[in-house]
Amino acid sequence: MKLELERIPVWDGVRSGSECFICDLMGEAQGDAIAFYLGSSVMNPETRVRVNESGFCPSHWQMLLAANKPQGLSLMGDTYLSTTREKMKEAIGDLRRAKGARATKRAVERYKEQLREREAGCLVCTAMEGRLKRYLFTTAYLWEQEAEFRSALLASKGFCLHHFSLLIERASDAVSRGRWDAFVSEMTELEEQNLDRVAQDLYWMTQMHKSENRDKDWQGAEDAHRRGVDKMTGRNRVIDPV
Ligand SMILES: [Zn+2]
Ligand SMILES: [Zn+2]
Repeated sequence: MKLELERIPVWDGVRSGSECFICDLMGEAQGDAIAFYLGSSVMNPETRVRVNESGFCPSHWQMLLAANKPQGLSLMGDTYLSTTREKMKEAIGDLRRAKGARATKRAVERYKEQLREREAGCLVCTAMEGRLKRYLFTTAYLWEQEAEFRSALLASKGFCLHHFSLLIERASDAVSRGRWDAFVSEMTELEEQNLDRVAQDLYWMTQMHKSENRDKDWQGAEDAHRRGVDKMTGRNRVIDPV
């Protein structure tokens, strides 16, 4: 599989000094997708059909809401909700008509399943997934192709645990046969060094909250709690692509 390379954003990311530059790039991808669905494209019939069919996951509906554009959102909400009600008409009818515990249980289960299907396949998540694939591919590809990139990557702060997992998995498509193991091993060493660093910062933060250490130096650990959480969980994760 050969994907379009994203050289510039990946090079900028690797040099940014971030705890996970993939998290940052995914923040941009998410922002772009949200802006797209809040922009004039909402009036485009093809886009409207896609919104009615797939919609958004709960967290991306909330993000669209938070952007405070009532007009665009009411347009999407109007037709999306009527599509939802149409798709779930039978399941809702079964809930109303069910008699006895067994039939009610079946109807409740069916409604739950249909709602789950309706919420799956978020358009923002799908757009993010497309970018994520290219960023991960580019990172592994450049590691093999360019010595300068490899050194910059090895001098970076690594990745959050979530994107680290995706990177080493998907690198098998980006590096040549026989080089995947070397990539995984080298990235794991980088990740462990950086987890040690974050762990030390977190520990130092716990110490700095003790009164006897009040006058000691923070040694850069002032935001260790934030970096620790971000390193563990990642930010701007793709939840539910089509
Ligand atoms: Zn990340
Ligand atoms: Zn989503």
